[in-house]
Amino acid sequence: MAEKSSDVMNRNFIHDFIDEDIAQGGRYEGMRVHTRFPPEPNGYLHIGHAKAIYVDFGTAQKYHGLCNLRMDDTNPTKEDVEFVDAIEEDIKWLGYDWEDRFYYASDYFDQMYDYAVELIKAGKAYVCQLTAEEMSANRGDIDHPATSPWRDRPIEESLDLFARMKAGEFPDGSMTLRAKIDLASGNFNMRDPALYRIKHQSHHRTGDKWCIYPMYDFAHPIEDAIEGITHSLCTLEFESHRPLYDWVIDNISCPAKPRQIEFARLGINYTVMSKRKLRQLVEENFVSGWDDPRMPTLCGLRRRGYTPEAIRSFSEQIGVAKADSTVDFFFLEHCLRSNLDDTACRAMAVLRPVKLTITNYPEGQSELFEIENHPKHPEMGSHTVSFSRNLFIEAGDFMEEPIKKYKRLSPNGLECRLKGAYIIKCTGCIKDEAGNVVEVLAEYDPNSRGGDPADGRKIKGAAIHWVDAATAVDAEVRLYDNLFSDPSPDAAGKNFLEALNPNSLEVLRGCKLEAMLGQAKAPASFQFMRTGYFCVDSVDSAPGALVFNRSVSLKDSFKPKK
Ligand code: ATP
Ligand code: MG
Repeated sequence: MAEKSSDVMNRNFIHDFIDEDIAQGGRYEGMRVHTRFPPEPNGYLHIGHAKAIYVDFGTAQKYHGLCNLRMDDTNPTKEDVEFVDAIEEDIKWLGYDWEDRFYYASDYFDQMYDYAVELIKAGKAYVCQLTAEEMSANRGDIDHPATSPWRDRPIEESLDLFARMKAGEFPDGSMTLRAKIDLASGNFNMRDPALYRIKHQSHHRTGDKWCIYPMYDFAHPIEDAIEGITHSLCTLEFESHRPLYDWVIDNISCPAKPRQIEFARLGINYTVMSKRKLRQLVEENFVSGWDDPRMPTLCGLRRRGYTPEAIRSFSEQIGVAKADSTVDFFFLEHCLRSNLDDTACRAMAVLRPVKLTITNYPEGQSELFEIENHPKHPEMGSHTVSFSRNLFIEAGDFMEEPIKKYKRLSPNGLECRLKGAYIIKCTGCIKDEAGNVVEVLAEYDPNSRGGDPADGRKIKGAAIHWVDAATAVDAEVRLYDNLFSDPSPDAAGKNFLEALNPNSLEVLRGCKLEAMLGQAKAPASFQFMRTGYFCVDSVDSAPGALVFNRSVSLKDSFKPKK
């Protein structure tokens, strides 16, 4: 597990509760803090889950406790081993370890059933024959209690019916097992909530053994109790379910009494986070897959070049609060940029190339320059780039008729630096019949090796990046922008598909990269000087057919609130 000091979780309100609980006289006096991360294996994890993982694993880590990984697979629909494997991979990648504590909620189905029987025997649950529609029609309102004609049926009758529900005698939706709590409760979750429903559907692990499945509010506290969880950390939407969580724990003979604590869900602008919507983007081919680099999924972010450090740092800095809020997408990018600024090897790559010929440099000659891998980290070493008469530069670094204050190459005599190599002066250009510039011409100052003039004169032009045509490698480079052009594509009343950004992907072919990049393999990240941070695409890149993704641009668009 990561041990950098920035990875130690800052104090938040959850820690206050835990401190109270483990202090002398607290409910868990002297006990080891034990949390869990309970994903439903019906999709890939996204950046919102990363926050939950950070909270669950990070809290355990802070208290030298334990955190379990539990597949919350009580719902038989749409669950798949593909997702289970991906979830494990993503959590490990983030740097967390559940050791040998990997569980499936479905492994507890027998115990859940037994606890349900226990409740019936104690007169605390009953089989109700209202259909879902009838139940909601009988829900009552603030002034009127809910009703069920089955509430006072004899215990024996409920026991018999529940056993027959399990045996498969009744069709889907014909009956439920309901907790007998309080039909008049101001909290509607407490108005005799359903604990079990009938669903004749196979389950990806239990097959056809069950045709009744427990509801989340009944199953979750039991899962926590069985695993000896002390603190069940979940998102805010479960706050009004907490009385039911506690009711279940208090009314069954379970081995432990976990405490539920809720924290704010993470929302980020310019993206969507609901699994259903992410799935739709994939299934309807709006993106290339769950790992499309524009997706907010962890596999998408990883492919985009996000590092575990950047995501952990993001999770830490957004904080753990009790009120929902939306975080600026730029802030996520800011966290990646800070991380890569510190760690990425510097290199030169020309994305929109035009030829540059140094007319006074001898033909057939070439030389090597040493480029530092990182200006602030000499320990990262250096690498060599070759230089010769024929180079590539960015087409945008030349203007035949320069606009005012243009500091790059133009035939106006301004001297510029070729980064790390020589000072040059543009002398003109060659155009094709259509008038497009196909070659820029320049002369170099042989007494400026390394980029500084021997006579100390001031160089007013910019330092531009370049690549030697003789050794350059070709690559495809993919530039990404936000997947949505609307900051809140998820807002009520909007069709999120209409908010898709048509320019979220721009593919550049025939980019010219310095030779060293030809050997790069995923997950290597680089700063392409003056251009941005890029990584090797882990899926499509191959030797001789390189593909790079822009992880994030150099320019920071994040504006901290004053
Ligand atoms: P969805 O509603 O998109 O299906 P979910 O919350 O049902 O998402 P789960 O797989 O059940 O997804 O989530 C596992 C854990 O991750 C839960 O504890 C949940 O609270 C947490 N989680 C999910 N989304 C977010 C989010 N955006 N921010 C913080 N935590 C989240
Ligand atoms: Mg869920």
